[in-house]
Amino acid sequence: MDYGLENVKDVIVIGAGPSGSFAAYRLARAGFSVDLLEEHREVGKPVECTGLVSQRVLQYVRTRSIAGTVRGANIFFPNGKSIHIEKDDPTIVLFRDSFDKDVAAMAIGAGSGIRINARALSVTEHDDHVTVRYRENGNIREEDAMIVVGADGINSVVRRDVYRLRQRHVVSTLQYDMASTMDDEDSVSVYLGSKYTHGFFGWAVPGGDIVRVGTGSYRASARPYMENLSHRFGDNRVLGITGAGIPIRMAERLNTKRTVLVGDAGGIVKPLSGGGIYTGIFSSDVAARYVIEDLENGNTGTALKKYDREIRATIGRELKKDSMVQSIYSRISDRSFNRIYGMISNEKIIDVINRSGDIDYPSTVIIKVLLRNPGILYSMWK
Ligand SMILES: Cc1cc2nc3c(=O)[nH]c(=O)nc-3n(C[C@H](O)[C@H](O)[C@H](O)COP(=O)(O)OP(=O)(O)OC[C@H]3O[C@@H](n4cnc5c(N)ncnc54)[C@H](O)[C@@H]3O)c2cc1C
Repeated sequence: MDYGLENVKDVIVIGAGPSGSFAAYRLARAGFSVDLLEEHREVGKPVECTGLVSQRVLQYVRTRSIAGTVRGANIFFPNGKSIHIEKDDPTIVLFRDSFDKDVAAMAIGAGSGIRINARALSVTEHDDHVTVRYRENGNIREEDAMIVVGADGINSVVRRDVYRLRQRHVVSTLQYDMASTMDDEDSVSVYLGSKYTHGFFGWAVPGGDIVRVGTGSYRASARPYMENLSHRFGDNRVLGITGAGIPIRMAERLNTKRTVLVGDAGGIVKPLSGGGIYTGIFSSDVAARYVIEDLENGNTGTALKKYDREIRATIGRELKKDSMVQSIYSRISDRSFNRIYGMISNEKIIDVINRSGDIDYPSTVIIKVLLRNPGILYSMWK
């Protein structure tokens, strides 16, 4: 499009994670000029993720990067006892690095440009365009666009420079790839209680001879908890270590006149599980729709307001409920967890969980279980 400015792109997307690449794909496919900036030398690396997603993700992304599937979860309580829950439709375990490449390839296939080893240093929103200053292969450059999509993850430069918002609710994680096996190869394990986590949970995901073992800690270091958890899978078996922060509260604003925040950059992440691949892609799909509308209607910024509104009216409702549950959950003591175990380890409640459990929309099952047994709420506080 001709905006009366020289060398201006329609859109610059910062960050080639799943959210950014999916936004770039949607915008390029609609015929707009798009540049995708990625700070690392390789899309998808380093991997800082377990890769568990629902089937919904496959409605958005064509991918062959599937490591396997799991159907159930064994949830371990502090007293060492566990419950087993199971779903009909399997949960997918992704090879996260090649999945990210798949989404980026979709964007490039649709006509988006990509610059790797290009780190955005600052973003300045002007009245009629946005300027992105970045370092590419050691050289400092500037590029202008009508709209910038901030898909640059937890330490978003867009969020910092344009929104001036800090992410205060962060779960720190550590994850080891371990040469080990799990008894139940068809289920993930979840570990609750103060030995394995501070206010979040520990996990183990089967993968043949390699198990992805990790833990998250809310407002505390994950390291001591990870040491306890990794012992369960044998000493001197660590093949790789990753870890990063997970932002678990949505930003107060998701748009300005010429920018939007998607995925982790906007804190559009499930607060109870820390999962953000589906929610990130969902947010990019909605954002792309309104960026297109805005570019077609002369860049007034009005359409971008609808992005913020629609996210809050859709996935945001779920995230808000989950945030409230998370703030209570993060304070549950071991004794309370054990009492809750006694209340839910019966066939009727497990059946409710099996029928209504949904990793993307957990509030439904939580409400159903609490309605069946309101005493659980009381137990949480004791
Ligand atoms: C240990 C761990 C396990 C997880 N497990 C799961 C899981 O099982 N399932 C799930 O759904 N979610 C999981 N998550 C969360 C998930 O990884 C994120 O929510 C998801 O990656 C968000 O995608 P995104 O594209 O919004 O952000 P990111 O994937 O963080 O992508 C941001 C991209 O922007 C780039 N970037 C950052 N800053 C700049 C800059 N200044 N200039 C240019 N590029 C920049 C980064 O290099 C990166 O490629 C996990 C997270 C962690 C830490």
